[in-house]
Amino acid sequence: MTQGRATQETSEQEGRPLLNRRLAAFGTTIFAEMSALALRTGSINLGQGFPDTDGPEEIREAAVRALRDGRGNQYPPGPGVPELRAAVAAHQERFYGLSWSPETEILVTTGATEAIAASLLALLEPGDEVIAFEPYYDSYAACIAMAGARRVPLTLRAPGFRPDLDELRSLITPRTRLLLLNTPHNPTGTVLTPDELSGIAALAVEHDLLVVTDEVYEHLVFTGAHHPIAALPGMRGRTVSISSAGKTFSYTGWKVGWVTGDAALVAAVRSAKQYLTFVSGGPFQYAIAEALALPDTFFTGFLADMHRKRDLLATGLRAAGFQVYEPEGTYFITTDIAPFGDEDAYAFCRALPERCGVAAVPNSVFYDDPEAGRSQVRFTFCKKDEVLEEAVTRLGRLTG
Ligand code: PMP
Ligand code: GLN
Repeated sequence: MTQGRATQETSEQEGRPLLNRRLAAFGTTIFAEMSALALRTGSINLGQGFPDTDGPEEIREAAVRALRDGRGNQYPPGPGVPELRAAVAAHQERFYGLSWSPETEILVTTGATEAIAASLLALLEPGDEVIAFEPYYDSYAACIAMAGARRVPLTLRAPGFRPDLDELRSLITPRTRLLLLNTPHNPTGTVLTPDELSGIAALAVEHDLLVVTDEVYEHLVFTGAHHPIAALPGMRGRTVSISSAGKTFSYTGWKVGWVTGDAALVAAVRSAKQYLTFVSGGPFQYAIAEALALPDTFFTGFLADMHRKRDLLATGLRAAGFQVYEPEGTYFITTDIAPFGDEDAYAFCRALPERCGVAAVPNSVFYDDPEAGRSQVRFTFCKKDEVLEEAVTRLGRLTG
């Protein structure tokens, strides 16, 4: 992985680098780098995925109420406040027919990011192999490295970005401990089909593998539907499912996430979580408990809005000359810059703000195989229509 740039500072001690070997390749996340560049150049930031409009007003008011009423202002319970655990259970039942015990099978975390870290730190021994789809969401590679494990990529290749299950089978070795899934997938927008999920589940059962599945974009599916792998035969006892409130409710700054799974798995993840953050921030948990219970019209309205934005940006990017890979889910569009005669996505993204006042993210940094995503650039569409329209106008000047 060619993530960011490694920190070069050295200590007095024989020029030894300060950042340890496990993290040396993970100096600065690409999101921080490109957002800083957007800020410095006054560009429209279609790089880092955060909405420019806050989520539902009543949910914000619920957070204010919790703060004022002193709910969650002191350490909340380790597994999360009971109201949120009950709401996560009800949400999983309502959308997927899955039943989890709020007492033993749900853990509230500080965003999905902590859930990923705690799961990998809890479940992996040094030397274990983890198979994950590349391009990877950046924290996967870093957390696998922090756990001392080894990542083994299954490359999703353009144009379809589908996982090849024969290739997956060929990657499994006696050291393979865990499959790390992400559906809907950031950055490609791939949504795993029921057939793909069944094939993956069958391999997990056959080889007795654990599965950690990151489903933070569960409510952002435009083509097909979201199916949790935990619901498939043989998977309940081996799957840790992760989601969070950031994307679904457009409050990415609140960092409320959760884990669901069999009691033994959740207990293991809780052990690691205790020593990462002990407990997660309190008042927002009460507000997200209310958010999860919003009526269906909220979820369908949010999806319809994002669908329209996806089409707006995809059309604009095509008109500007990009090759567009239409996403089935998430709020990202992966493009190819080959039509511009460019092939280095990282260099393209570093220059883009100066060239036309728009920031994006190079997918190339999410691959171990530098060739596989060399010319891919990701844009987000979770922005106001007028911002997206201005961005495509600016991008239209690239060829002009
Ligand atoms: N997983 C994926 C695939 C993501 O895109 C993100 C970014 N939101 C996260 C996890 C992190 O989620 P959170 O902000 O809830 O920590
Ligand atoms: N998930 C968002 C993205 O992929 C934000 C990630 C981040 O800033 N760490 O853009």
